[in-house]
Amino acid sequence: MKIFKSRNTANSFFLLKDEPQAIIFDKSSKPLWLLKDGSKHNTTCLHCTEKYCLQFSPLEIQPPLKNFPTLPIKEVCPSGALKWDDKRQCPTVDSQKCIQCGFCVKRCPAKAIYFQNGIHVSMETNNINVYQNSGRENDSELHDKQMAYLKSLPFQALNISEYSSVIREIYGKLIHADSSVRELFVRNLLIILGIPTSLRRTGDVYTRMDAIYKIGSKVGPLEIEFGQDTLSASRRILDDIAILHTRYKLDKMIQLPLVVCLTLPNARQGYWQVIRDIKKVEKISISTITVGVLLIFLWHAEKLNINIDDYYIDYDNMSMRAVAESQLKIKIPIAEGFLGLLEPQK
Ligand code: SF4
Ligand code: SF4
Repeated sequence: MKIFKSRNTANSFFLLKDEPQAIIFDKSSKPLWLLKDGSKHNTTCLHCTEKYCLQFSPLEIQPPLKNFPTLPIKEVCPSGALKWDDKRQCPTVDSQKCIQCGFCVKRCPAKAIYFQNGIHVSMETNNINVYQNSGRENDSELHDKQMAYLKSLPFQALNISEYSSVIREIYGKLIHADSSVRELFVRNLLIILGIPTSLRRTGDVYTRMDAIYKIGSKVGPLEIEFGQDTLSASRRILDDIAILHTRYKLDKMIQLPLVVCLTLPNARQGYWQVIRDIKKVEKISISTITVGVLLIFLWHAEKLNINIDDYYIDYDNMSMRAVAESQLKIKIPIAEGFLGLLEPQK
């Protein structure tokens, strides 16, 4: 009874008749569930009660730092392209608004949302592997168990050979997006990668930093820079460190300052020297990571299981290719300098 009380979709979810052994992704077809008997079935939306594709749970958006003035947005889709269709009881994608980030693809345990020249939702109403629940309480428990099981199945969201073209497309859309969409994009990307992150509440002029995040027991100020002003991001982050030190009693030595940018600054830009000087003089390492590298982690790995310090790059070494490849255990098929993703463009 307790479970049903908190849900208003108790009668609309689907149950699997047979648990799949694997989820197969092939570039040319929809994702498939592979059953024990060897049969394959198109995945379908299970009308899941938690709507993982659309919303984060309250726990996932809990601020990483007590009393930090956060923006408690629960939507997973940063551009507002994914909406719930009450009539069909499944999500729908507005292709005009979709930036193809793949967050919803990654979040759906059933893998009913997939990339294939855009983002699609699979709604196989006559899928022989599912049935409508009967409304009994233990159906709800079974549904939860099945969703947890589906989540545990490995799945590659995107073929590695497509990374460059998809990133180029996403970058093209992000460049023109509102700053609120960009910031939500970075926050959601980090949360999905398992890093609790909160954006500063709009209008709070005293806190200043764009966001705050947590890895292990360490908290870090986060600056999001999608334009060419990375030099100012390195200076802003010093402000953030001071604010966290004075107002939240976080010693500067235990903070993990991070700049998330779209493109690394060119080799001649002052950013690289400033980062090195700050380290030499203040002993503070400001890490830098690009959205593109975070996206590759999203499509390729389960979590961003890394030490952010590994992404400290400065004037003496401006490339994050070696560290990203060793952590992902793949050769990233992206040309040198491409979009300033792994090393500066010039
Ligand atoms: S698309 Fe996936 S995550 Fe979204 S409601 Fe359907 S089953 Fe749940
Ligand atoms: S791919 Fe990204 S932008 Fe498109 S619907 Fe999914 S979450 Fe929204």
